[in-house]
Amino acid sequence: MSARILNGNAIRDRIYVELAGEIASLASAGVRPGLAAVRVGDDPASKLYVNSKIAACEKLGLASFHITPPASTTTDELLTIVNELNDRDDVDGILVQMPLPKQIDSKKILDAVVPAKDVDGFHPVNVGNLVANRPALVACTPAGVMEILRRSNIPMEGANAVVIGRSDIVGKPMALLLLHANATVTICHSKSKDLPGIARRADIIVAAIGKAAMVTPDFVRPGATVIDVGQIVVKDAKQAERIFAKFPEKLQAFRNKGSVLAGDVHPEVVEVAGAYTPVPGGVGPLTIAMLMSNTVKAARMRRGLRAPAAAPARG
Ligand code: NAP
Repeated sequence: MSARILNGNAIRDRIYVELAGEIASLASAGVRPGLAAVRVGDDPASKLYVNSKIAACEKLGLASFHITPPASTTTDELLTIVNELNDRDDVDGILVQMPLPKQIDSKKILDAVVPAKDVDGFHPVNVGNLVANRPALVACTPAGVMEILRRSNIPMEGANAVVIGRSDIVGKPMALLLLHANATVTICHSKSKDLPGIARRADIIVAAIGKAAMVTPDFVRPGATVIDVGQIVVKDAKQAERIFAKFPEKLQAFRNKGSVLAGDVHPEVVEVAGAYTPVPGGVGPLTIAMLMSNTVKAARMRRGLRAPAAAPARG
């Protein structure tokens, strides 16, 4: 048996088409949603992430503002920047790219973003609204996983869902979203006992761990849906050979580049699962799509505008 591939790129493209319609209808009401991205310092990975977020804004016709204070910025200076963005009417969403330099109090900065513009969904007010199942801006990666599950017609009501990982940005909001979709949810973490045994009871496994290929076929009940959030750059040749023994094209990619991207799920899970998200091309593309969706949603919510009738469940 070989699992159905849940293609994140195709789902992202469908969401972009829908968003383009919403953006056009907002434009006819004189509204152009805008996203402000704040990147402190010159970290190359942060640069790459922020550039792809800005590129997505440009592709969709959203306004974007790229603010790049130096690495020496203090907490107070960054608070001033965030407060100015909070007050600007042309800014609907604010994202502060993590990680911030050590001298900055990240929690203070994230708490300073007004909840109505918190398109990352990290503010305690948005987290609280998510817990209470009230309208909220929801963290992008777990929101993207829900899009994959819904649009792929994976039944969630009454399903046993096991979320591996309990981080504030992925695991916890993921578990809440599945709970609100009426799944029976188990959250696992590094202290959980008999992880494979718990996971084998799942109809849906969401792995958000950060440990390459940790979820092996013995974690998976035949036919289960496996969602792989992990993105780990494997640089060790022995590890790459162990993980991708049956995937010669991946090993070739490793030899060419000296590294290869792996997920938290072992690629041989494809032989047991009913459906799965590949890495790359599964969950990853949805994260930026949901950031765009949250920016449009924030623009609407701030002005008291409703979603157009044709818009689907993204809120
Ligand atoms: P994180 O903050 O490091 O959290 C990892 C979680 O995994 C923790 O709850 C930890 O448990 C748990 N864990 C670690 N080792 C474990 C083990 N051996 N058994 C069971 N649980 C274990 O990571 P994160 O931010 O949630 O990200 C997780 C992964 O998703 C990373 O690979 C990250 O790069 C990726 N990611 C991808 C996207 C995307 O767009 N695709 C977005 C965000 C994150 P404890 O709480 O007990 O320590």
